[in-house]
Amino acid sequence: MADIPETEEGWKKKLSSKQYEILRLKATERPFTGELLHNKEKGVYACAGCGQELFSSEAKFDSGTGWPSFCKPIKEENIDKKPDYAPGAERTEVLCSRCRGHLGHVFDDGPGPAGKRYCINSAALEFRKKEKED
Ligand code: FE
Repeated sequence: MADIPETEEGWKKKLSSKQYEILRLKATERPFTGELLHNKEKGVYACAGCGQELFSSEAKFDSGTGWPSFCKPIKEENIDKKPDYAPGAERTEVLCSRCRGHLGHVFDDGPGPAGKRYCINSAALEFRKKEKED
């Protein structure tokens, strides 16, 4: 697995400027601009910061919001959730539990029994295509 930089300078070297703004500075990419929004291939979405596996393609759905959306993480322990008290928008921030990178937010209006919608920035993710069908 990739190393986790110890300084912000290290992160700046490792990440693209877009990835840095999202993962480290908690920016949000513009809707309908992310490279992985319409990706329908089978595989795993890993953290673009540290490589930890975060979401399976099986959990991906089209939420119509303009960001890749997932109904659940691969493992609950791979993500952290934190209340985000942005003015006028009460929401829960989603972070990678390994490198603490900002991924996006989770909302309670998702499909299925759990009803969760993980709204994640494309640039915070790295897609790993599954090579073979099992
Ligand atoms: Fe990470």
